Amino acid sequence: MSFNVEEIRSLFPVLHQEVNGKPLIYFDNAATTQKPLSVLDALSDYYKKDNSNIHRGAHTLADRATRHYEKTRSLIRDFINAREEEEIIFTKGTTESINLVAATFGRKFITKGDEILISTMEHHSNIVPWQMLCEEKEATLKIIPISDSGEILLEEFDRLLNEKTKLVSIVHASNSLGTINPVKEIIRKAHQFGAKVLLDGAQSTSHLKVDVQDLDCDFLAFSAHKLFGPTGLGVLYGKRSILETMPPYQGGGEMIKEVTFEKTTYNEIPFKFEAGTPNIADVIAFQKSLEFINSTGKQNIKTHEDGLLSYANELMGEIKGFVPVGTAREKVSVLSFNIRGMHPFDVGMMLDANGIAVRTGHHCTQPLMQRFGIEGTVRASFSVYNTKSEIDQMALAVAKIAKIKN
Ligand code: PLP
Repeated sequence: MSFNVEEIRSLFPVLHQEVNGKPLIYFDNAATTQKPLSVLDALSDYYKKDNSNIHRGAHTLADRATRHYEKTRSLIRDFINAREEEEIIFTKGTTESINLVAATFGRKFITKGDEILISTMEHHSNIVPWQMLCEEKEATLKIIPISDSGEILLEEFDRLLNEKTKLVSIVHASNSLGTINPVKEIIRKAHQFGAKVLLDGAQSTSHLKVDVQDLDCDFLAFSAHKLFGPTGLGVLYGKRSILETMPPYQGGGEMIKEVTFEKTTYNEIPFKFEAGTPNIADVIAFQKSLEFINSTGKQNIKTHEDGLLSYANELMGEIKGFVPVGTAREKVSVLSFNIRGMHPFDVGMMLDANGIAVRTGHHCTQPLMQRFGIEGTVRASFSVYNTKSEIDQMALAVAKIAKIKN
């Protein structure tokens, strides 16, 4: 498909509004992406036409809802090239996917003296579950340091990796810096020591082609809302051979085979990990997000976003007082920066007054901010519907703001 950004913008109703008297410029895509009309329509269509509980109903609506729901699972399998649909588990989001692994794989396989490796640039959701697990199990959490440009120090990773390493849990693309980590190499090395690898794909899945078989990751966690889909929905991919050895996550309906007061047996994967009535409407609507991505083309999306990022780097780099944070060679379209002498929050407020939505603060990566000795950053993150002219507007506004102190 040929790439036409104006055509793409016309699919996203929220973009066509004024904020503080100015046309909205939405650069907070790493926090959440906007939703095309097809997703919104699918949500309301489901409630208007098909609303029913899935998997257990013996009537037409339940059957229809079940088929739509399971079709999404199959599209996700294609999207990440998993071997089987059964390897796709629906969760609330990346956070819950990681917590699920900590609570099941972690509870069963991590024991006293084991080591778990994460990096300095992890989101809190890929730090705290492991801290909690390590505390409970008397295991050790080790941190792979990063360079000043925001890249993992692979020689330090090599040094930390050993027979005690049971799990490496690593962000594929950093939400705060944009750094794309060399995960294929990390996975290969971790496997040599028998460690499993979880990829936090919250940011990578929206920008990069992620092929779980090619990467050979053991787990992949991501969120629908960062992929033009609804909030409150996430995915955990896991290799069948590992998922089958893991105990269930939550107990309740749907995850069982048979319940008696004496003994309960559990359902097969993926249902073993999906207790209770799931987020049916959002799962069904997520199909439309995946269709949008597939029809636009992952490569077209990446090329467009790469263009936006290099254009932004060029323009912003000329502004006196502009200090970029995270200058890795391989990045997704995230531009984190500070303005010398100014608090990021103040910069964000002034940009908002110009209709420009960015995120400010620590972006749920406090240890990373500590590594750089800063309180936070201003983060502009670009998506498929953003334009160079929007970046012109931001650069003009930032130049004006920076003049206050520079
Ligand atoms: N990991 C990364 C890298 C993220 O960017 C985010 C969200 O910002 C998360 C994890 C958590 O995602 P969610 O809040 O959708 O569970």
